[in-house]
Amino acid sequence: MLSPIAELDNAGPEIARLGWRSLALWREVAEALRADGCNAPLFEQHGSLMLAHGADLGAARRVLARLDTAPTLAAELPAPQPLDRAALAALEPALAPGLHAWLLPGEAQVMSRDMLNALAVHAPNVHWCWGERVERVEAGVLQVAGEGPVRFDLAIDVRGVGARVSREPNEATSVRPEPVERLSASGAEGQRPAQPERISSHSTEKIRGVRGEVIWLHAPGVTLQRPVRLLHPRHRVYIVPRPGDLFVVGASEVESEDRSPVSLRSAVELMAAAQSVLPELAEARIVHMEANLRPALPDNEPRTHSEPGLLRINGLFRHGWLLAPALVEDALTQVDVASRAPADPHPNPLPPAGEGAPCHRTAHAAEGPSLPRPSGERAGVRGTPEQTPESHQNP
Ligand SMILES: Cc1cc2nc3c(=O)[nH]c(=O)nc-3n(C[C@H](O)[C@H](O)[C@H](O)COP(=O)(O)OP(=O)(O)OC[C@H]3O[C@@H](n4cnc5c(N)ncnc54)[C@H](O)[C@@H]3O)c2cc1C
Repeated sequence: MLSPIAELDNAGPEIARLGWRSLALWREVAEALRADGCNAPLFEQHGSLMLAHGADLGAARRVLARLDTAPTLAAELPAPQPLDRAALAALEPALAPGLHAWLLPGEAQVMSRDMLNALAVHAPNVHWCWGERVERVEAGVLQVAGEGPVRFDLAIDVRGVGARVSREPNEATSVRPEPVERLSASGAEGQRPAQPERISSHSTEKIRGVRGEVIWLHAPGVTLQRPVRLLHPRHRVYIVPRPGDLFVVGASEVESEDRSPVSLRSAVELMAAAQSVLPELAEARIVHMEANLRPALPDNEPRTHSEPGLLRINGLFRHGWLLAPALVEDALTQVDVASRAPADPHPNPLPPAGEGAPCHRTAHAAEGPSLPRPSGERAGVRGTPEQTPESHQNP
């Protein structure tokens, strides 16, 4: 779900602003992929609905009041629009009668799995290396498991919870020139004064995983035009319609890094809540359940860290899909700033990629588009985007 308005219940106004910007960027990304020959639906924007049963109206009103506490946003984001019974029935006839409802105009969804595949397949001049474990990322250097360090112009660390690596003994004293780190969501200022920073104190050391569980249902004949979210005193439950008569029901939020299968309690609560708003789901078939981790920092806000040769983005928590395009756009600006910082007085002595490095790590700009390679095509390259061990399939 791309829900910048509804997520104001869990996040600050800057997340909403970044998310709102990202909606337009996702639309552009989807249009560019379509123009490039990708026919799968990747992005849908029909608004979303917030729903509440009569008995939960008090809880729903508290959520709506929280959404209203960001008056400065009012000019930038549309407000939730209350719908009466007839308006709701006209928009979504399959929903249970008697629900209280609010339309969140402009909210959207991205088909996450298809979008990731399309981005991988249509990325020009990218040489993918699937299924390899990167043990350390430093300015201009990647350390891949079982191999020596390799130098690159820019190392980008987006490993989520996997970025929380154990510290090297000598790392505690290493310093880098003029890092640029800011709370990405602040959207402004945030550059630190020109002080060297201990790289080991980077905030990704405090990254934690927050477990989330989702259920995929197959329900031919059940129609829902847009994502719906049930406002409930105890759960946050949403149903997202997907192509092929699929519905994604999510998501739990558990302070745990347990990646084991979906628990009975989560499954029962999510599905019972979903069926209470969409009664026709009773005969749906459960086709898939999954649990994954949201990478979060102590304040649950995203961070972008940039210094010459290094970019880290982490802490996207509940909002990775919502924020990714705007965060990347901002990060590229930071990279530009950082690349103009004074040169490292102690340049890295390692060979650059392509000089003594395994050739498959080199960026082959002259080779033209490179598609994900099938499993086993060559040593060290395993799997497709869908097969990578921790690939997320968020709604
Ligand atoms: C159930 C659930 C539902 C969600 N729903 C939504 C939603 O509706 N909307 C939304 O905006 N967000 C949603 N999120 C949050 C979103 O999925 C995250 O914010 C997002 O995945 C974070 O992206 P990331 O790339 O920073 O980290 P991740 O998605 O965790 O990706 C990190 C990647 O790095 C790889 N990696 C890790 N360690 C290493 C290593 N050592 N070497 C090489 N690779 C490594 C992992 O395999 C993984 O592919 C949901 C999350 C969950 C769990």
